[in-house]
Amino acid sequence: MDKAVSSPFHLSLEFFPPKSDEMEVQLWEAVEQLSTWQPDFVSMTYGAGGSTQEPTLAAVRRMIGDAGLATAAHLTCVDATRDEVKAVVEEFRAAGVRRIVALRGDPTAGMNGSYTPHPEGFSDTSDLVRMLVAYGDLDISVSAYPEKHPESPDMAADIDTLKRKADAGAARALSQFFFDNDLFEAYLEKVRAAGITIPVVPGIMPIQNLTQLKRFARRCGSTVPSFLDQRFEGLGDKPEERAEVAADIAAEQIADLMKRGIDDFHIYTMNRAPLVSGVLERLGRSRGQVASIGAAA
Ligand SMILES: Cc1cc2nc3c(=O)[nH]c(=O)nc-3n(C[C@H](O)[C@H](O)[C@H](O)COP(=O)(O)OP(=O)(O)OC[C@H]3O[C@@H](n4cnc5c(N)ncnc54)[C@H](O)[C@@H]3O)c2cc1C
Repeated sequence: MDKAVSSPFHLSLEFFPPKSDEMEVQLWEAVEQLSTWQPDFVSMTYGAGGSTQEPTLAAVRRMIGDAGLATAAHLTCVDATRDEVKAVVEEFRAAGVRRIVALRGDPTAGMNGSYTPHPEGFSDTSDLVRMLVAYGDLDISVSAYPEKHPESPDMAADIDTLKRKADAGAARALSQFFFDNDLFEAYLEKVRAAGITIPVVPGIMPIQNLTQLKRFARRCGSTVPSFLDQRFEGLGDKPEERAEVAADIAAEQIADLMKRGIDDFHIYTMNRAPLVSGVLERLGRSRGQVASIGAAA
């Protein structure tokens, strides 16, 4: 994989807000260690229906204020009025946020509840993107679904949703995770054929735990190919070997996408550094300085 060293390489790393003191420590250790890979930006998710509004904001403040990292705040518009969403945007802006991952989100009833726009809210994500673009100084990312969103009746409807978001002014789409690069390439061809020109950044999920991943993937509509079972076979009680295999798999996936001309990657870190670092080491990336993470507020 040495060729990757000199190739263009853009990286964003996704984190989620901590739910306990222990997870808080884990998050900041991961941010500190992974900052050395010099991501173009990091991103912080926003709980369903705004349920993590305060923790997201606190984490984003620390990422920007203490760590000096270019930080994208995720933002959903489900179950909220326009005014409520705008108030959150104002708080993000006051914290220095200039990047937003704009999402519809899932109803608080859960991923399988059906989505109805709030009567005083945004009609869909493209409506949210338009409001954000009107600020004039925000970089907007949106989601993309290489295997279509579970609610989309078909791929054409899904790509139409992406087109509306791109036409509204989104700068890029970050994809749901997938493991089959042929499938991603075929999706990208359909996206381009639909006249969508913004970058679609593949979402890479290094596998921390295959059983948990399968559960999560079912809800997200991502396929977990059987070759993954084969790669992890017999490693149930060998965590170190499992971690090596997981790093190999994600590095091989990225290296193959690079051969196909892709140089921009969004990695779902699950707030853990060692596996993601293992992936980037295998790709021959070099580390820079550690970001300084101040004491928790
Ligand atoms: C990179 C990434 C980051 C994410 N971060 C978060 C996060 O921080 N917090 C969180 O809660 N969730 C997050 N999600 C998950 C996301 O919120 C869910 O997948 C949600 O169900 C859809 O939101 P969206 O913005 O992707 O929807 P959209 O892309 O706007 O729509 C998804 C699909 O639903 C259908 N649809 C959209 N609008 C309508 C409508 N009005 N009527 C009928 N069908 C419609 C379309 O066919 C569309 O393909 C993330 C997903 C990705 C890929």
